[in-house]
Amino acid sequence: MNWSAAQIQAWESLALGPRWQMKNAAPKQAVDTPTKASWESLKQAVANCQACPLWQSRKQTVFGSGTELGQWALVGEAPGAEEDLQGEAFVGMAGQLLDQMLLAMGWNRSQDLFIANVLKCRPPGNRNPTPEEASACAGHLQAQLQWLRPKAILIMGRVAAQHLLGQDVSIASLRGKPQVLTIDQGLQAFEVPALVTYHPAYLLRNLEDKAKAWEDLNLFAEILRQRQCLP
Ligand code: SF4
Repeated sequence: MNWSAAQIQAWESLALGPRWQMKNAAPKQAVDTPTKASWESLKQAVANCQACPLWQSRKQTVFGSGTELGQWALVGEAPGAEEDLQGEAFVGMAGQLLDQMLLAMGWNRSQDLFIANVLKCRPPGNRNPTPEEASACAGHLQAQLQWLRPKAILIMGRVAAQHLLGQDVSIASLRGKPQVLTIDQGLQAFEVPALVTYHPAYLLRNLEDKAKAWEDLNLFAEILRQRQCLP
């Protein structure tokens, strides 16, 4: 991605943190030109995947939700019980809270963004993904991001942050610090601004942190403005 001098100056004014390389990135390979057909082929690849043992316990894969035509992406950790049942990302109580948060910011999941998870299959008992599972599934997320080429990424929760940033640290220590993800794109790579915040499921259990999540969303809106996604 080529940034203009004005964009670089604006980005630096946000006090950028270090630049990160996406962890567990799949080997470089030719990337399809984004077309409806190539997006459908990614869906099919996920639906048929048996690359880790989670395929045996899933009811169905969860490719994501929202729109692939949106300007930005949100990445969470893994499907839970409701997602496994419905085949959609971020449904149930946490999904409803996410929708309220998006709505409060003037965003709509069906029009503005694509929502993906690190894992496409539910870990039994909603446990955290193992490193092996996350590694096996990394190619699917990378392919989605390659196709989407989002202008910014909101990372929700510690597991997603750990996977994307390669840092096993608390959300409290990451939030408020804009990051840059480097996504391999065939023989090239592109950079995407990213911000970490709390997962809605965590916020349902820790109401006192909702105000911090609100701060994070406002900072993310500023990033979207810098990337000309918002007026
Ligand atoms: S979690 Fe990912 S790698 Fe494992 S079976 Fe599901 S789609 Fe494949």
